[in-house]
Amino acid sequence: MNGMTTAARSPRPDTPVVIAGGGPAGLAAAAELAWHGVGSVVIEPRPQVSHRRPRAKTTSIRTMEHLRRWGLAGRLRAAAPLPVAWSQRVTFCASLSGRRITDFDGAFGLVTGRDDRFAEAGQQVPQPVVEEVLRAHLQRRPEVDLRLGQSVTALAQDGAGVTVTVRAPGGGTYPLRARYVLGCDGAAGVVRDQLGARYAGRSDPRPNFNLVFRAPGLETALGPAVQYWVVGGATTGVLGRLDLAGTWWAGLPGIDAGYGAAHASELVTGLIGGPAEHEVLATDPWTARMLIADTFAGGRVFLVGESAHVNPPWGGHGFNTCVGDAVNIGWKIAAVEQGWAPPALLASYDPERRGVVEQTVASAASHLGRLAGDLPADADAIQRAKHPEFHSLGLVLGYSYAGSPVIQPSACTRPASDLSRFTPAADPGARLPHAWLPDGSSLYDHLGRGLTLVGPVREHAAAVTALAARAAARSIPLTLREPPPGYPWRTEFLLVRPDQHIAWRSDDPAGIDLGVVTGAERIPGQVPS
Ligand SMILES: Cc1cc2nc3c(=O)[nH]c(=O)nc-3n(C[C@H](O)[C@H](O)[C@H](O)COP(=O)(O)OP(=O)(O)OC[C@H]3O[C@@H](n4cnc5c(N)ncnc54)[C@H](O)[C@@H]3O)c2cc1C
Repeated sequence: MNGMTTAARSPRPDTPVVIAGGGPAGLAAAAELAWHGVGSVVIEPRPQVSHRRPRAKTTSIRTMEHLRRWGLAGRLRAAAPLPVAWSQRVTFCASLSGRRITDFDGAFGLVTGRDDRFAEAGQQVPQPVVEEVLRAHLQRRPEVDLRLGQSVTALAQDGAGVTVTVRAPGGGTYPLRARYVLGCDGAAGVVRDQLGARYAGRSDPRPNFNLVFRAPGLETALGPAVQYWVVGGATTGVLGRLDLAGTWWAGLPGIDAGYGAAHASELVTGLIGGPAEHEVLATDPWTARMLIADTFAGGRVFLVGESAHVNPPWGGHGFNTCVGDAVNIGWKIAAVEQGWAPPALLASYDPERRGVVEQTVASAASHLGRLAGDLPADADAIQRAKHPEFHSLGLVLGYSYAGSPVIQPSACTRPASDLSRFTPAADPGARLPHAWLPDGSSLYDHLGRGLTLVGPVREHAAAVTALAARAAARSIPLTLREPPPGYPWRTEFLLVRPDQHIAWRSDDPAGIDLGVVTGAERIPGQVPS
């Protein structure tokens, strides 16, 4: 590791975790750690969040389920300028004032009714709003020290911890000692280099140009939609409302920074399909990249979010994948800090998340040849080409950690092949199939912060008591839950991790290997990597 020094006599650090970067990944990691009662110091250079670069707008069903766990789903929905009930639609059109070509309803997990398969619907909400809700939450949490206007400049690991060099607002630097460091500092951060990790992958040669504009009088006869795709004409791109008060965003593929800056107003007019009073507030040129770091971890340092991988925003998975990383490493560090798992558990972070990241990056890359400028103004062709981009529940909820060294070995180790369709399954590694309880709460609301055994616990009291004794001997917090009425897996035992994934599935609790699940023991017969 670059910047690594050996100082075997260094004291044990006081701070459990230093998080470099307070974007979505860093804030989510701090929230996950705090939910487990584990402290962190978050170092973030931006004193304020900028609404002029809205970036992600799609908060997935899965991210909303994580926010629900932290008690934040309702707060995010209250802060989101576009309620789910306002629109669940993506509309393709000749222009905002032109003809409708076709629609996709229920896009991005936007549903208004209750669905048995998940605890929360998706939400369209600009990334800065998500960051503000997370910042406000963390500022109220005693476990979190959010240091704004500061940046990480270097790291040095030793036997007992990591020394992080931080640049303070005045320009001077100071050291921070931590037992673990999370590199959540994005694609341009320093932690990846300090770790000696390298991105591999490619960039789309075509530029993209985003802008934010104000047009309070702008209306469309096409009706509410979270995205309007303008295809088939001279100006092609996507636009949508950021709020219901006249602020809009637009994204134009194939437009470079120079042309975009010089012709921003013309481009807006082209997407609208005629003159409309507007003011361009900000522009944001960007490149679609498909990059994955060769390692996500080194010693006590972990790359989380875009510092580990970058994918194009098509399909809306980028920020959501970053939150998934944060939850995965967050609960594992908490388990180690709380003494119910050894540090070996942390070695499962890279293999578990790498599979999900590869699947997500490949999916986003598959949409690259189907951008607004590539599509004909033909409803059938658009429906065929774009369905997987707007309906991707198989990817959002069907990903699995099967094959992980801390998951029960099973025959189901291949990722879902149909990324649009999601069928709940109780295979080891899968997200626990969701269910609503008679009182209207979610099964997820009743899981513990450690491991949870969901199964016929009353009927098999002796076997369950024996498992609970084995858990207690390892100091593992174990919650016992009867499955809800009508649950398809009522007769089996599902051992569920804090991230709601199934670690073990068995007819008999005696068969559950707590050593494997916590990383204390290897799967019998598994060769060390
Ligand atoms: C145009 C566009 C549209 C997008 N749309 C979507 C979408 O709809 N859905 C979706 O899921 N994703 C989308 N994304 C992707 C999403 O924006 C990113 O995936 C997300 O921001 C990554 O989060 P992160 O926290 O890993 O990194 P970042 O957001 O890059 O955050 C990194 C943080 O680290 C800080 N930092 C940098 N250097 C240092 C340092 N030395 N020390 C400490 N801190 C540092 C930065 O200030 C920053 O706050 C989109 C991206 C783009 C470009």
